[in-house]
Amino acid sequence: MSGLVLVTGGRSGIGAATGRAVAAAGMRPLLCDIAAFEPEAADVWRIPFDVSDEVVVAHEVGAIEAALGPITGLVNAAGILGRMAPPHKLRMSDWDREIAIDLRGTYVMCREVGSRMAERGAGAIVNIASIVSLASAPVHGYGPAKAAVANLTMTLAAEWGGRGVRVNAVSPGFTRTPALQRGLDAGVMEEERLAGLSALRRLVEPEEIGRSVAWLLSDAASAITGINLAVDAGFLCGVTWQAYGGLRGNG
Ligand code: NAD
Repeated sequence: MSGLVLVTGGRSGIGAATGRAVAAAGMRPLLCDIAAFEPEAADVWRIPFDVSDEVVVAHEVGAIEAALGPITGLVNAAGILGRMAPPHKLRMSDWDREIAIDLRGTYVMCREVGSRMAERGAGAIVNIASIVSLASAPVHGYGPAKAAVANLTMTLAAEWGGRGVRVNAVSPGFTRTPALQRGLDAGVMEEERLAGLSALRRLVEPEEIGRSVAWLLSDAASAITGINLAVDAGFLCGVTWQAYGGLRGNG
């Protein structure tokens, strides 16, 4: 697939790395974000917008297509990480915010851009979910939001498959982005521990997520739709070994 690929959350972390990977794969990335920023290399949509605001999204997507032509790829990387707290301590305002950005925002973007793709008979979408869509974690707003993103991905894949639009999800494991770094710096998580639970004994780099996304957008993945691909350095397959004393050493 060649053409214009809109990447939300393109200012930072996984979105920024996806922009670089999409460009390296011969597609034309257009980065957008809720915050203004200067691009490194890829094109940036200069008007910041919130992916969860359907009125603004409809306006900006219309303006992007009027200025640059049809959007042929969409990557929903805008998002916030979840607040870790037991239910009686997690404020409902935090729960609402995580659902609004991570789930509602993903749906609003898919709805606006995917409908246009379906009308034209072609397109590919990749939603960034999380490994918590495939297992549980002590993030009571974020986890259900990401599980719903995985379901939304399958549902829209079935909805639009007959009209030439593929919809897939990538579920990153612990990925070295500014958002994760804040958690590491605050001592909420420890890098050595996260790495030690993963089959590959390390964190994921944002570029590794970006390359997986670019591949799913490309014609190399032309028969793939409705999947949720974990890109997690083997965290999901390694973590259960804790119950048996942990992963073996290298010796
Ligand atoms: P990040 O904070 O580095 O980047 C997220 C970007 O999204 C920021 O530039 C931010 O301004 C933008 N954004 C936030 N709310 C927005 C909104 N309402 N509208 C438009 N843009 C908005 O975070 P990241 O780690 O790169 O995370 C990107 C995605 O990957 C998120 O959905 C996150 O849940 C997911 N994810 C990250 C990890 C990880 O370990 N870093 C793991 C699993 C899933």
